[in-house]
Amino acid sequence: MRFGRSRRWLFAILTALSGVLIVNLAQAQLFTTKKEVERSHRTQWLLTKRHMPVYPDERVQRYVRCIANDLISVLDEEWQALNWEVIVFDDESPNASVLLGGKITVHSGILRVADTPDALAAVLGHELAHLTEGHVMSRTRRASGTTAASILASAATGIHRSVVEQGAMIGMQLPFQRGQESDADVVGLQYMSRAGYDPRAGVYLWQNMKDMSQGGRPPEWLSTHPREDERMDAMIPLLVPNLKLYNEAHEAGRIPNCSP
Ligand SMILES: [Zn+2]
Repeated sequence: MRFGRSRRWLFAILTALSGVLIVNLAQAQLFTTKKEVERSHRTQWLLTKRHMPVYPDERVQRYVRCIANDLISVLDEEWQALNWEVIVFDDESPNASVLLGGKITVHSGILRVADTPDALAAVLGHELAHLTEGHVMSRTRRASGTTAASILASAATGIHRSVVEQGAMIGMQLPFQRGQESDADVVGLQYMSRAGYDPRAGVYLWQNMKDMSQGGRPPEWLSTHPREDERMDAMIPLLVPNLKLYNEAHEAGRIPNCSP
């Protein structure tokens, strides 16, 4: 009897250990290396393009690409060298994101909030900063544990998650961390100002976000971002140094010319 009980314990411990081992193995196989993370993002981008409807107005596509290109041109060379793609998808939720490899997703809904070239530059500058500051990479690594666990759970229960759902978990659904959001605000303002866009539009953008979220469901972009008031407060002291960058850009002939 005593022997039997201790064997059961041993069995339980071994089962638990093998569970941990399997999860670790799955994580290792999924995204341990930078290459694996990049591959998962490539897949996500292909799936996004296959499943999301592209916004039909080519003028809007050109307009958004034009602003994105202005911003990309002020990034360090290693970032500029990526094979950039910028696509506006037909989706009313106000959202934008960047995947590794330089793939920019813009939902048409964000254009209602970011309704001037400067405001859109604020959105894109912020998203580009998430990429260049390493947040996009680290978010996928954080997500990989969840993904590995859920794939194992799906396998155990015989439920197969759709490829799209898995891809979404890999790339886009986890929020960035709070500190990463403020970093992206700081760096994003620099990018837009160096590209000749007015940094005051950062504050304008968040005021718009706030106005839009009142009385209704908050926009998707808001739900993963800190409160608008806090962001505006943090941005105001950054305006003076960034307006200097903005003026320098204009003096150097960097005057944005993207029209909606
Ligand atoms: Zn963000």
